[in-house]
Amino acid sequence: MIMYPIIRCPGCRTFTYVDNFQRWKLCPHCGHAYEVARAPVYLDVEDHHEAEHIVRQMEKHLHSTKKKDFTPEELEELRHHYTNALKHKSHRPVH
Ligand SMILES: [Zn+2]
Repeated sequence: MIMYPIIRCPGCRTFTYVDNFQRWKLCPHCGHAYEVARAPVYLDVEDHHEAEHIVRQMEKHLHSTKKKDFTPEELEELRHHYTNALKHKSHRPVH
């Protein structure tokens, strides 16, 4: 199954996402190429639209709180939030 891990560029600290088969990521912002396996994964999502949305939310959050990174508590909350959302979605009856 394809998952989309949300990672962060080690060069310019921009959030982005890849798919779990991708080994290298070229940052569109700073041009830095890095190995996906070496970048910390913030969240794993199943849908790339969702990933894009979450990346934007994460950028917005750091911008509005003027922080450089998420605290472990915030990250926990974020994971909890989106895991619940995804679970909820998959429980929707399919017709
Ligand atoms: Zn970068």
